[in-house]
Amino acid sequence: MHTHYSVVIPAYNEEEAIGGLYRSLKEVMDGAARPYEIIFVDDASTDSTRQLLEDISASDDAVRPVCFPENRGQSEAFAEGFRRAQGEIVISLDADLQNDPRDIPRLLEKLEEGYDVVCGWRRERKDSAGVRLLSKVANISRRIILGEKIHDVCCALRVYRSTVLKNLNLSDGMYFMLTGILLARGCRIGEVVVNHRPRETGESKFNLSVRLPMAALLFRYLLHKGRYVKTG
Ligand code: UDP
Ligand code: MG
Repeated sequence: MHTHYSVVIPAYNEEEAIGGLYRSLKEVMDGAARPYEIIFVDDASTDSTRQLLEDISASDDAVRPVCFPENRGQSEAFAEGFRRAQGEIVISLDADLQNDPRDIPRLLEKLEEGYDVVCGWRRERKDSAGVRLLSKVANISRRIILGEKIHDVCCALRVYRSTVLKNLNLSDGMYFMLTGILLARGCRIGEVVVNHRPRETGESKFNLSVRLPMAALLFRYLLHKGRYVKTG
């Protein structure tokens, strides 16, 4: 059957979240009443994430785990999931239950208004004060430098028309520049306020020492914009 929706989820040591995420996502996707696949990209977890994904996929044909042999980071995990996605519409979210799958129908409705991408806007973020401050600086500076008129450039909960995800260069952590890349390619980007929950299982893999070098990636993008924006 023709796949309509591809859900892409990167997971690194998320054993406590996987079961709950799968159940809540399945309920939402069954409700969407179109054929779908769920691509979990296990980023070489060292806990039981991989085993859990294999168990789920053994009982549900819609679930397709991809397993990296070594840890490559969220950006590479999303890039691999996007490459494998067969659906006309790609839905992305994190595995840690901070994003709420029940927001997906509202993002899909917005997409139907004529957007190429609809991003979640975590208006009430449930992260530490330091992370919230850095995000605010990133969102404002990107709005000024790149003209990205969305409020939340790093929310993983998004829906895309699959055509806009072709020929992307997301290596070296560039996933966090994706809205800038798509904007420069002429995509119409909408946004919807979404629920954001505190991380109640596992731990954040993006501490301040990982977030700060992202400023260097922003400069790299600005210097080599053509390399990332090129669609050919
Ligand atoms: N993640 C990943 N590989 C990594 C680090 C994180 O696949 O090396 C996944 C992680 O499992 C989660 C998502 O990327 O699904 C976002 O990570 P996290 O929740 O730690 O980031 P935060 O929400 O704190 O920004
Ligand atoms: Mg998280």
